[in-house]
Amino acid sequence: MRVINPDHRLIAHKLTYLRDKRTDSPTFRRLAEELMTLLAYEATRDVRVEPFEIETPVAATTGTKLADPKPIVVPILRAGLGMLDGMTRVLPTAEVGFLGMQRDEETLEAITYANRLPDDLSGRQCFLLDPMLATGGTLVAAIDYLLQRGARDVTAVCILAAPEGLAVVEQFVGDRADVKVVVAAVDERLNEKAYIVPGLGDAGDRIFGTK
Ligand code: URA
Repeated sequence: MRVINPDHRLIAHKLTYLRDKRTDSPTFRRLAEELMTLLAYEATRDVRVEPFEIETPVAATTGTKLADPKPIVVPILRAGLGMLDGMTRVLPTAEVGFLGMQRDEETLEAITYANRLPDDLSGRQCFLLDPMLATGGTLVAAIDYLLQRGARDVTAVCILAAPEGLAVVEQFVGDRADVKVVVAAVDERLNEKAYIVPGLGDAGDRIFGTK
């Protein structure tokens, strides 16, 4: 598994305002979307392409276009929805699937309440969107769904990750698939409630203005 943590000052700037508890929900949503566009640029660096013959007004030339089958983007509900627009702005022709997963706050296990994925993902590049990689339980369950459907090329895009969660995902993935995690920052640790420290709080509540 590869962890990619892009070094970019705009990412650091937007992330700081996302962390700040004074940032209100509409601003948080806008910043999360903007940050996602920057992370999407990095996450799609290896998107599969093929040569494409075209004619400019001046000459014939060989360009590049996205290869088939098109990539699939899978936000993990609910907080991953806040990242979807930023991703599809960069990759508008991608198919969108959904996984609804919730963390049981007592056992910290991932519970799946919705699943809209194609049955066959072999040969597809899959992009999972989940802002907070905390214990790793949700991401492991989501990657497992994709692998069971034949996917072997998975990129998870996260805003923050805890070292503990990254270790759990890495151990699960082993050499079963090519998995990348693109993340704006790897934070210090998890606290006793499995929140990321310093983190940004509950991403879903902050995106959707709930408490
Ligand atoms: N989920 C969140 O929204 N925030 C955390 O810090 C951990 C999990």
